Amino acid sequence: MPLALRSLGSGSSGNSFVATNGDQAIVVDAGFSKRRMVAELRHLQDSGLSLAAIVLTHEHFDHSRGAIELARVSGAPIVATRGTLNALAEGLSDPTIARIAVGSTESFDIASFSIGFRPVRHDAQEPVGLSIAADDSVAVIAIDLGTASKADADWMSNCDLLVIESNHDSTRLMNGPYPGHLKRRIAGRLGHLSNDQAAACIAQAVGVGRARVIWLAHLSEVNNTRTEALHRARREVADTEIAVAVCARDRPSLTWSSGRQFRQATLW
Ligand SMILES: [Zn+2]
Ligand SMILES: [Zn+2]
Repeated sequence: MPLALRSLGSGSSGNSFVATNGDQAIVVDAGFSKRRMVAELRHLQDSGLSLAAIVLTHEHFDHSRGAIELARVSGAPIVATRGTLNALAEGLSDPTIARIAVGSTESFDIASFSIGFRPVRHDAQEPVGLSIAADDSVAVIAIDLGTASKADADWMSNCDLLVIESNHDSTRLMNGPYPGHLKRRIAGRLGHLSNDQAAACIAQAVGVGRARVIWLAHLSEVNNTRTEALHRARREVADTEIAVAVCARDRPSLTWSSGRQFRQATLW
């Protein structure tokens, strides 16, 4: 069965994606409200899908807010690094919630998915980027990282779908309303990728990789615009067949399947 990915929303107020393969699903990050995440679970179940795992990139609230309730209601385990699980420890005091700790350089197989973990530079306990493989296809999710090395960009290039953070336009951030300490945090090496940093990764992925679709994610509402982020990224894919699109911040917006071309999602 083809590997598919949907964006349920991506931005500083919440992040969540659903990967599916046949009748199996995993949720990657569960950063929306308890009610919203449980509603998404019902959508999955109504579509005949069973949730095999809730995989978290890191503990920040915009990635984990609904994870514990989703695990409680679904019975699916939370799969994350030890650092992420430790950071969630208070909320994970319920012993009935299943959890699986993985190393930040490990891969982990669950249901028909093979999930690769890769450390990223971000101000969380043990944050990771993820690769999700099934059916000979790979989706990479690299959101919430302050710096991307050449090796990181090489890792990102080995996929069919790349979901990459394009958080802010640096000039807009520096001239914007945020206080100085927050500007420094966002722009810092443990903060968030700018449009230019994302573009550099995309350029490398275009040069050596096989990605056919790129999603820009985690855009700042204040320090970026959809148009600017798209324009910057598309400069790197000019004269290629690669499609670039932006994940909406707070609603389902994009879906991709290894079995067909990129298209805008219909709501599900
Ligand atoms: Zn985030
Ligand atoms: Zn974060």
